[in-house]
Amino acid sequence: MGRARYVGEADDEVTDVSDETWGQFKTFENAVFEAFDSEFTREASRLIGGQDLQACFQCTKCSAGCPVSDKVNVQVHELMRMLVLGLREVLETDMVWLCTTCYTCQERCPQGIHITDIIFGLKNMAFRRGIAPPGYLAAREGLYNTGRLYEPTEWEREDLDLDPVPEFDIDDIQTLFEATGLMGLGKGKKKAGGE
Ligand code: SF4
Ligand code: SF4
Repeated sequence: MGRARYVGEADDEVTDVSDETWGQFKTFENAVFEAFDSEFTREASRLIGGQDLQACFQCTKCSAGCPVSDKVNVQVHELMRMLVLGLREVLETDMVWLCTTCYTCQERCPQGIHITDIIFGLKNMAFRRGIAPPGYLAAREGLYNTGRLYEPTEWEREDLDLDPVPEFDIDDIQTLFEATGLMGLGKGKKKAGGE
């Protein structure tokens, strides 16, 4: 099935999403999708919680309680609908990555859908395709190279009268990353529509 394309406000303004740079979250304002991918829906339905996707009746209770609803351009209930419709672009939405995993949506869903678990799965699906915010990739590199997410600031520790951070061997961490294939994931970014 072909890649979905969406149409801008003007009828003659057609944008092929495959030409866009992803990183600053994509906007789907006025998007009109032309191609639905049933295989993607099947893939999403195999995620933890995904078996109940079709039970969503778009009540929007999930979005009404979501603490990041004013920060995202695709709301949780819209994300659920995108999955049912097989829109792979859901992997490029900020909702997937800004979700705080607070589980509020999951608690509120009258259909008992494990929404947060589905979003966890979508993160994994996206990452396997090389779709992730640059900050996540930088954090992975940093962990691999230093064993830490953040380098401790010595002068701050001195100000707080703390001992220097002890040195440690990061071989185990690097072995773990390599054994799990984490460092290889996402190399050579693929588009949401690609496999
Ligand atoms: S609360 Fe549940 S049923 Fe309602 S829109 Fe969200 S996922 Fe769908
Ligand atoms: S788990 Fe994520 S999507 Fe659900 S309410 Fe919390 S922040 Fe929103």
